[in-house]
Amino acid sequence: MPVSGLPPYDEGNIFARILRGEIPSRKVHEDEYALAFHDIAPQAPVHVLVIPKGRYVSAADFTAQAGPEEMAGFWRAVGQVARQLGLEGQGYRILTNMGADAGQEVPHFHVHIFGGKPLGPMLV
Ligand code: C5P
Repeated sequence: MPVSGLPPYDEGNIFARILRGEIPSRKVHEDEYALAFHDIAPQAPVHVLVIPKGRYVSAADFTAQAGPEEMAGFWRAVGQVARQLGLEGQGYRILTNMGADAGQEVPHFHVHIFGGKPLGPMLV
């Protein structure tokens, strides 16, 4: 069960379908732990999503339930994707929306990577 108070993991969510190859994505990176692809509605010159292969509804569920190897593998993939996209020099922003107040749309944990321009201060 999710620890976040969100409904249980939904196998029909759009990112689960992308992971199963039922829906296409513009893939950037894939390994044992993570898949990264370009966001369909980019909010910055570079806007990529990184999702774990495991079934986690949110950041809260991932951090509570993923094993150490899985967690390390996922965050290593986030760094690798940023490097691969050439963002390390200028910097970038990583963000995750957790639950209703944050406006999380897709109930499969994901990290947004934004970059490619000065992003300015973070606005909430
Ligand atoms: O963090 P949140 O759940 O709000 O973000 C979901 C993100 O997934 C949005 O930025 C949306 O554009 C993206 N998305 C996507 N491909 C889809 C459906 C949603 O890149 N097929």
